[in-house]
Amino acid sequence: MTNILANENHIWHPFTAHTDAHKNIFVTKGEGIYLHTHDGRKIIDAISSWWVNLHGHSHPVIANAIYQQALQLEHVIFAGFTHTPALTLTEKLLAILPSNLQKIFFSDNGSTANEVAIKMAIQYWHNQGIHKKKIVALAGAYHGDTFGAMSVGDRNIFTEPFTHYLFDVVFIDFPDGQNDEQVVEQLKQLVAVGDVGAFIFEPMVQGAAGMRIYSAQTLAHLLLVAKENQVLCIADEVFTGFYRTGKCFATEHTGLQPDIMTISKGITGGTLPLGVTACSQEVYRAFESNQLAKTFLHGHSYTANPLACAAASASYDLLFSEDCQRQLKTISNLHAHFTKRLALHPKISSAQSLGTILSIELKTETNGYENSLRSIIYDYFLAKDILLRPLGNVIYMVPPYVIREEELNKLYDAIEEFLSTL
Ligand SMILES: *Cc1c(COP(=O)(O)O)cnc(C)c1O
Repeated sequence: MTNILANENHIWHPFTAHTDAHKNIFVTKGEGIYLHTHDGRKIIDAISSWWVNLHGHSHPVIANAIYQQALQLEHVIFAGFTHTPALTLTEKLLAILPSNLQKIFFSDNGSTANEVAIKMAIQYWHNQGIHKKKIVALAGAYHGDTFGAMSVGDRNIFTEPFTHYLFDVVFIDFPDGQNDEQVVEQLKQLVAVGDVGAFIFEPMVQGAAGMRIYSAQTLAHLLLVAKENQVLCIADEVFTGFYRTGKCFATEHTGLQPDIMTISKGITGGTLPLGVTACSQEVYRAFESNQLAKTFLHGHSYTANPLACAAASASYDLLFSEDCQRQLKTISNLHAHFTKRLALHPKISSAQSLGTILSIELKTETNGYENSLRSIIYDYFLAKDILLRPLGNVIYMVPPYVIREEELNKLYDAIEEFLSTL
């Protein structure tokens, strides 16, 4: 077997303090909602491995699609060339995306999909010689870890060393249910000046900020204000896409269409990295020119990788199967039922669900306590062979869609048991 010491000695893990490197769990196999470890444990992946997995681990249909594609064409430069997997996936995406989004730009992950969206929006105005350079975002936002994505995201401990290098963005408050009218007013005042070019947002729920769910009606108001003032709306559906929130895309809860939408995480069912930035004809048209200076000069080596596209097409077919659609309803109902059961629990300040997302905020006294609570929660559930990775004092669940009722009940029971230890 491979030398496990190499992990601690030579591998630098994401979001992991060096002192915690020895805690990594050695996974040897994934199967459905379970992760099998080298020492014989079977851990329930209740967070879909950072929100990417839709149909369970190592799904044979997706695995086979990747294998078949690898025998045919593993990769080809996407400038000057095209291929069937990209075409097939594009047709599928166009069938479910908001009808105004007609152009698909491929990249590798959620951060790059957002980089592309931000660059498209900026150059859209630049190409037309219109001065609309300001970008507006929501307080607490998370759009990824690359520089553009960090710039439009919340400034916090994750971005602190880089603050000086991030470009200026105007943040409006997060609409928390109390302040929604003021937030809409904030946007109105900003756009009235006429120099705002884009508004980027995570529709319906801010994931990394702690699964903060907000009002569809307020989001609709914000989008209307933006649209009335020629501000491009960028919906970051990297997390929310593919039915996480009950609708195929979370923006659908508003009945409105964004000008640009980014998707990634669930797109391949969680098997291979792939990012998509979809935009309207209107946005695309601003780049129509034979001048190089007006071209969108952006790309990645693995743009539209055929294996990733084939995986995405296979995942798409599974997603729209009767089985999966029924599962989505079941999960959504069970989550909603569980949040009702918890509503008056003395140890929590809120229990919410939206589609397949469940979010429970614990009452805490201080921030320092929150940090230690995070690892207490993580360790507690892992000891029970459940992977739940809380965000601060928020316990959340975003299971693979193949999870069964009895497995969900087991997770709910474990959460209630944990609450009773507090
Ligand atoms: C995860 C996430 C990203 C970043 O995606 P990566 O693939 O991790 O780069 C961007 N936006 C949202 C809303 C996300 O949840």
